[in-house]
Amino acid sequence: MSKNSTEFNEGATPNGAIGTEINIASNGSNSIKNSKSIDIWSKCLSFIKDNVAAQVFKIWFQPIQALEYSNKELTLSVPSQFYYEWIEEHYYDLMRATIKKIIGEGASLQYKIVFDDSLSHEKTYIKMPGLKKKASENQNHIPFEPISINKDNFPTNLNTRYGFDNFISGESNQLAYSAAKAVADNPGKTRFNPLVIYGGPGLGKTHLIQAIGNHITENNPRLKVYYITSDMFTNEFVNSIKDNKISDFVNFYRSIDVLMVDDIQFFAGKEATQNNFFHTFNTLYQAGKQIILTSDKAPRELADVDDRLISRFQWGLNADVQSPDFELRMAILLRKSLDEGIELTSDVIEYIARNVKTSVRELEGALIGLIAKVTLDRKPMTLELAKEVVYGSKTKNNQPITIDEIKNLVSEYYKLNIKDIESKSRKHEIALARQTCMYLAKKFTTSSLKTIGSHFGNRDHSTVLHSCQTIDNYIVTDKKVKNSIDTFMKQLKRES
Ligand code: ADP
Ligand code: MG
Repeated sequence: MSKNSTEFNEGATPNGAIGTEINIASNGSNSIKNSKSIDIWSKCLSFIKDNVAAQVFKIWFQPIQALEYSNKELTLSVPSQFYYEWIEEHYYDLMRATIKKIIGEGASLQYKIVFDDSLSHEKTYIKMPGLKKKASENQNHIPFEPISINKDNFPTNLNTRYGFDNFISGESNQLAYSAAKAVADNPGKTRFNPLVIYGGPGLGKTHLIQAIGNHITENNPRLKVYYITSDMFTNEFVNSIKDNKISDFVNFYRSIDVLMVDDIQFFAGKEATQNNFFHTFNTLYQAGKQIILTSDKAPRELADVDDRLISRFQWGLNADVQSPDFELRMAILLRKSLDEGIELTSDVIEYIARNVKTSVRELEGALIGLIAKVTLDRKPMTLELAKEVVYGSKTKNNQPITIDEIKNLVSEYYKLNIKDIESKSRKHEIALARQTCMYLAKKFTTSSLKTIGSHFGNRDHSTVLHSCQTIDNYIVTDKKVKNSIDTFMKQLKRES
């Protein structure tokens, strides 16, 4: 066995509740797998898939296997200690939500780290408790029971991972960031009430509002800060009716000083919940309490939400977060790689920043993918590896993509001769096809700009760079070119 078990013991038993156990499974380790566990885990996987970037899913969740299931406890096998820690650290909330959704209340999770003992041909498992970070938390605690109105055990639902100090601001999120800081410094006392932060997925909305909450709890420990998603709010409301506890529910919400509701777009179509939230909102607002909301679109564009609510959402400030621009993407990658203790060369950072553009979550996904390859597969951190992670620079049969292959693809698409593409012709169509080839070659092959240029009538590296920029611009301004590039990307990408 490659690790000392006492080492695990310490980390694994934060409250001494769950011990570490070493199992030696016989070679037929299938005997301890049961089909129920496989079935449950595959349901979990489809839920997880909808909630993480494709890259993250592939690297961190696909390799996990189900081992056992009994008494609402699912046991999963993970390939290494690093894996286990990473999932506990980064996907705690997701794992917790997933098993609760698929298994129900009282569900629990165990991991087994698998070691292959090459001498005895046996598999060794080290058992680790899942969801250990908050093991002491009472998961059945109903937040709006009168007992929790006491500040000392007030459940904020905040995750201390999200702070202002690890939120990187740039042009695309400047307004939301500044407003968030202002509100965090003076909750209920600025004009930004309510503060609504809106924008597409993975752009930092949850991070920002959680950062506000964490800042307030640190600086104003007297204040009752409560974070909740609109779905959780709906559930609490429905449960309070079911359990005949609606007045506890109402009292609980009235006692809050700072209320944060994430993803209010999911209030759509839920009339009774909206009506209740309307009254909660009014009560808090009139008492000068701070309300902070997030939404995937501007409040005025929310469908199936009561106009009375929408107009209230617009009383304060509606600040949007947009996709990060190039500079912000660079800054985020630099900072996150430092935080993870991984040194990236400037060409790797620039490559990722140029090619992963839609959201910060996707950026994180790419970075995590790289870290996984470097740490798990023990590969050196190179530009080639970055290309592999971002685009999968290998074809389906695992052969690297060649410039000739790209030329074939593009010439066929545009019905042109390869000779023309390689020529000096400046005819628009031919130049466009040539620029497209260079653009794809830069993305999908590991060739240098100089080598790429040599494949197209010996052009120099600045011409290749210029071609890539031209296509980048077209992608934004010209739908036809964008569609063609999308098609090529799909064909060249390794799909698995
Ligand atoms: P949203 O709620 O808008 O879907 P999140 O707040 O969950 O997005 O952000 C997705 C991931 O990206 C989180 O891990 C978050 O910490 C990170 N993130 C987003 N924006 C930034 C930023 N500006 N600086 C640092 N991390 C960020
Ligand atoms: Mg969010």
